Amino acid sequence: MEAAKVKKFEKRLSDRLRELTERLEKIEDDLDQPSDPDAEERATEREGDEVLEKLGTAGLAEITMIKSALARVKDGTFGLCVVCGEQISEERLEVLPYTPKCRDCA
Ligand SMILES: [Zn+2]
Repeated sequence: MEAAKVKKFEKRLSDRLRELTERLEKIEDDLDQPSDPDAEERATEREGDEVLEKLGTAGLAEITMIKSALARVKDGTFGLCVVCGEQISEERLEVLPYTPKCRDCA
């Protein structure tokens, strides 16, 4: 892939990584908030915490994917399928810039 295109994806990945990291930090802050003393409020709050934890888990998984994509940018293999070694289509990378696999191998 052309260096300019790799740069473009690298920037998107870094921006997304920063956004996710900030969001996760906010989720952790929210989870650390002391519970509301009102019992009814507390039940709702617990459900809210579960949603936050799920978001956190999904976010962490995406962060891991993005970090390995950025590592592939560094070693010059970004955009190549980790399974078959073929070039991943740009259309696919536009949607999932951190994907390690081509459509056939995914
Ligand atoms: Zn493949």
